[in-house]
Amino acid sequence: MAQIIKVLIPRPVWQGYDYMLPDSLSSIVVGARVRVPFGPTNVVAIVVEVATRTEHTGHLRAVDKVLDQRCILSADLVRLANWLASYYHCPIGTVVETMLPTDVLRGRPMFVEPDFEWQIVAQEQAVEFKRAKRQQEVWTLLIKHGAIPDVELRKLGVVRNVLNTMENKGLIRRVPLFPAYKFEARGIKPTQEQELAIDGIRAALDSFGVHVLDGVTGSGKTEVYIRVIKEILDQGKQVLVLVPEIALTPQTANHFRDRFGNVAVLHSMRTNLQRFEVWCKVACGEHRLVLGTRSAIFTPFKDLGLIVVDEEHDTSYKQADSLRYSARDAAIVRAHDLNIPVILGSATLSLETVENINRKKYRRYQLSARPGVAKLPKFQLLDIRGQILQGGMCHSLIEIMRDHLDRKGQVLVLINRRGFALSLICRDCGRPANCQDCDVRLTLHEYPRRELRCHYCDRRYELPAACPDCSSTRLVSVGAATQRVVETLNEAFPDVPVRRIDRDALNTNRKLEQTFEAMQQPSRCILVGTQMLAKGHHLPNVTLVAVLRADVGFFSPDFRAAERTAQLIVQVAGRAGRAEREGEVWIQTLDPEHTHLESLAQSGYAGFVKTELISRKSARLPPYSHMALLRAEGANSEEVSEFLEQLLKEVQFTSTDKLGPIPAPIPRLNNRWRCQAALVDSNRKRLHESLAMIARTSVQRSKIRWSIDVDPMDMS
Ligand code: ADP
Ligand code: ZN
Ligand code: ZN
Repeated sequence: MAQIIKVLIPRPVWQGYDYMLPDSLSSIVVGARVRVPFGPTNVVAIVVEVATRTEHTGHLRAVDKVLDQRCILSADLVRLANWLASYYHCPIGTVVETMLPTDVLRGRPMFVEPDFEWQIVAQEQAVEFKRAKRQQEVWTLLIKHGAIPDVELRKLGVVRNVLNTMENKGLIRRVPLFPAYKFEARGIKPTQEQELAIDGIRAALDSFGVHVLDGVTGSGKTEVYIRVIKEILDQGKQVLVLVPEIALTPQTANHFRDRFGNVAVLHSMRTNLQRFEVWCKVACGEHRLVLGTRSAIFTPFKDLGLIVVDEEHDTSYKQADSLRYSARDAAIVRAHDLNIPVILGSATLSLETVENINRKKYRRYQLSARPGVAKLPKFQLLDIRGQILQGGMCHSLIEIMRDHLDRKGQVLVLINRRGFALSLICRDCGRPANCQDCDVRLTLHEYPRRELRCHYCDRRYELPAACPDCSSTRLVSVGAATQRVVETLNEAFPDVPVRRIDRDALNTNRKLEQTFEAMQQPSRCILVGTQMLAKGHHLPNVTLVAVLRADVGFFSPDFRAAERTAQLIVQVAGRAGRAEREGEVWIQTLDPEHTHLESLAQSGYAGFVKTELISRKSARLPPYSHMALLRAEGANSEEVSEFLEQLLKEVQFTSTDKLGPIPAPIPRLNNRWRCQAALVDSNRKRLHESLAMIARTSVQRSKIRWSIDVDPMDMS
């Protein structure tokens, strides 16, 4: 009887498909790739089951070609794919497409063998090769050199058959050329708190558990990861370390390389081929320590023993389109499935994680101090009500900077907006310059050229000579952004170098690295930048961090904005005072009595978390409820809103709360109208039942694009 196989197809389809396996293609392995006809073309698909029966009633098409003799999507990754599809209400085909590297989807042959060398089994043996001249040659070579890597022998023209025959005769054997892992202590002796965390996690390495490393900035979380990782590598198992962004990777990768001698790096900026190679080498067990960004969570491992998620609060772990998954949450699901531990680390834990600690689902280890003499900086509020600002800064802030610079300290200025000014406004009628395609104000840029830019669709405009409404020529720029701050500081401190860090100034990681490297020298300088400043660099000479306008995030309608703002301020503040000299953090604000600012100033991030959790609880927002956002966009705003209305009708009789539809915070983007609706439920299962009904809706409108975002990180 002909065999039937069930496959997953990397196309936006909701289910698997059945195909017939012709007798000519007899052997097939679950998890292997096949080429199958799909619609008018052939596609590469993954076999998930071999069966003899099918529910499919029509004619079954036949498999065209078998591409692998071995499993490339292991059973645990197939389980993860199914979880992702059902949790994020995403077509299983899209999930598979997201999980696999491009070259795998294109059918490139996988190399599955780790590099190895050939050695002679017993030297003293007297061997007669008679007419096997090729074998004699190999033997002589091996006697002479002791061991020779397989690739080298092949370069000399030795064919695999010869080697296999000799291996079968018991003359030679393969010895894997795994990169060896060493361990360098580098003279670091863990502090008592680090020791407690290391011992606690070490005692629980043989089963699932979520261990949270709640350590202030600079407290040495990495050292804890390193000691635990060593243990797992010593057991011969593999480790995955996730980091949020590429900007972090060069430094972190070098650090791991320095301590272990070896680390494989996986991130989206590498070429397809590079990613494919690392992927293969992890799959066959050759690489055992892997450092990667979000999608590295889909790497196949031979024997994974631990997952570390550094900066677990970071929103870049959440993918914003297609499969809207959280790599942190997927890491926990994968670890649970494999029954291995996971470590989440951060100085500014997400409120979800804090709540899971409170509910005793996760275990917390605290690192409350920096090792050695380094102290945490103090937060202070600078009331700017009624004060004249120059380039967004009040006079006393400039004087505080002068004081630090005079004492040879370095200064960081956080202003989370790139460009020169937030907007251009008519002084006579008040009309702001808006983007023609989006409902947003244009940002004024002075460098590299003077123009207005839309930060959402990237459209650029010449500066208008006059107001289009009242023809006034009195157009003024308001709200300082990075370029303006730099200009003002250049005037105030003509002999101090002022550097800028934002997406416009630094479009390559190399430049970012260079700027941070230059600041390792103990010379006076000022660094002005956006949130890019927050990323884990050590700047031992910084003694002052000034925060401009960051507190506007506390007034945003997005319920997560306060959390993100507090995290940003605390992370940037954490750059200060990393060496002997104590650091200061000054936050300029128009609202010094704001609860969030007061709690931050008085008791740091922990203080903020306490007050914010109370307000989330009373508003029944996550983590005290579960949320999903429905987003829709189209050419006409009424149609879009009416479409969402229809979607919500699908769940009108469920007890899930429905909010909306309402226009999105930016109602028009790229000339498309955007609306959203939220579903909120205290019961996760019930929410997912509602979402399943919506996902399978028959309601359709041509030209309206819509999506479901489970656990949305960004409400815009
Ligand atoms: P975090 O990731 O918690 O912000 P890091 O892991 O970057 O902090 O550590 C901050 C600095 O402290 C690093 O330079 C690290 O080498 C150093 N460090 C960590 N642990 C110790 C220790 N026990 N003794 C001395 N220095 C340490
Ligand atoms: Zn006007
Ligand atoms: Zn625009």
